Amino acid sequence: MVRDVLLGRSTTELEDWAIAQGQNAFRGRQIYDWIYNKGVKSLTDITVLPKQWRVELDAQNFRVGRLRCIRRFVASDATTKLLLATDDGEIIETVGIPTNQRLTVCVSSQVGCPMACRFCATGKGGLQRSLATHEIVDQVLSVREAMDRRPSHIVFMGMGEPLLNSEMVLESIRCFNIDLGISQRRITVSTIGVPKTLPQLAELAIKKLGRAQFTLAVSLHAPNQRLREELIPTAHSYPYDALLSDCHHYLSMTGRRVSFEYILLKELNDRPEHAAELADRLGGFQSHINLIAYNPIEEQEFKRPALRRIEAFRRVLERRGVAVSLRVSRGLDQNAACGQLRRQHVAEVS
Ligand code: SF4
Repeated sequence: MVRDVLLGRSTTELEDWAIAQGQNAFRGRQIYDWIYNKGVKSLTDITVLPKQWRVELDAQNFRVGRLRCIRRFVASDATTKLLLATDDGEIIETVGIPTNQRLTVCVSSQVGCPMACRFCATGKGGLQRSLATHEIVDQVLSVREAMDRRPSHIVFMGMGEPLLNSEMVLESIRCFNIDLGISQRRITVSTIGVPKTLPQLAELAIKKLGRAQFTLAVSLHAPNQRLREELIPTAHSYPYDALLSDCHHYLSMTGRRVSFEYILLKELNDRPEHAAELADRLGGFQSHINLIAYNPIEEQEFKRPALRRIEAFRRVLERRGVAVSLRVSRGLDQNAACGQLRRQHVAEVS
């Protein structure tokens, strides 16, 4: 953790930090309350702290560690997208997706992404760096503030591959769970699949969180290795069978079922025979598949299938005993696809 940033620290860590600063432990609890419950952005605004100490903390460059919201877009369905600037000038994207019952925040785990999936706007720009814990946690606080509503669910489906930043992702899950009161079961970590990282994630989650209760969603996007490699270049180093075997291993280590994601691309992976092949592959998994209709982006050859093709795909899976849900795209009118907003902003200012 960056030494001078307090966001992301637990109540005990803040108590210890206050004691190390020559204060009573309760000063740490006050800071905790103002950071997580009141959403304060600057230590100098925590008016319950002695003024002299606030001046000293500022002079020593201690800070809360909040990001700066530089742009906000609200779609007609109230989906709210924020562009947030980090201290070193990087721009990340986060999205708040509201329904009557829930507010889901789609968070980023990296600035950019090295996985280069062909259908993804984020993958086009490569990786700048991974995010620190406070930069991940801030996204949820920023959405809470922008939408004036408490987030109930979190999905790591924004920019980046979370399993390439497991330590910070798990630290932020601890923070969401304990400090912001969001149940682990309402948090989903979505991965495209990185060799050797699934067992590692399970081990680390048990160590850091006690139990891995969050949902792991593995993006398959194809029913076989050949097509998967066409869409996800990095898949060449992770054979389909090895990926599914690691999912079984993850299940046995955590007791949590893995769910799968499948983005439907017109005439590429959306045929009934693809659905049948996928169902055969997942036989015995008791799996749940989330179908996602592709969200078109500029400069891409891919298209979204018609609804009747999507429904036909879904029916094949269901007839073969696979539980399916269809994710409805939200906020299409504001460049909703992962990384689109950031790319547009960077193009405008450069
Ligand atoms: S889909 Fe996810 S893993 Fe693939 S390039 Fe985009 S952000 Fe990275």
